[in-house]
Amino acid sequence: MNERTKKPARRLRVRAVCAAPRRAEERSLASSELKGLNVRLYEVNSELNASLRRLGELTYTARAGGEAEEGAAGSLLAEIDGRMAEAEELRRRISEVKRERPCPVCGSACGAGDRFCRRCGAETGIGDGN
Ligand SMILES: [Zn+2]
Repeated sequence: MNERTKKPARRLRVRAVCAAPRRAEERSLASSELKGLNVRLYEVNSELNASLRRLGELTYTARAGGEAEEGAAGSLLAEIDGRMAEAEELRRRISEVKRERPCPVCGSACGAGDRFCRRCGAETGIGDGN
C-alpha cells in the first residue's frame, strides 16, 4: 500500500471518531431533558384534572342550591388557565426537543426521521436534504 491510498482513509476515521461522541452526547442531553419535560407535563395534567374536578363539584353544588364560596370559581378558572398555558408550553418544548415538524398535508407532528406522516401517509419531505 502506498502513502496516497492510506491518507484519506485515516482522515475519514478521525472524523468519524470525533463526531460520534458529540452526537451521542447531544442525544443523551435531549433525552434527559425530554424525560424531565414529560414528568412535568404529567404533573401539570394531574393538577389540571384535579382543578377541573373541583370546578365541576363547585358548579354542581351551586346548581343543587348549595352555597358556593364567593370568588372560588373565578380563582379556580384562573388556576386552570395557568395550567393549560403551562401544559401547552411543555408540549411545544417537547415537540422542539424531538425536532418534530408539521405534516405538509394534514399538519400533524412528524418526527425528525419520519419520511411519511403517521396520520395521513403523505411524504413529509424530511430526510431529502431539508
Ligand atoms: Zn399528514
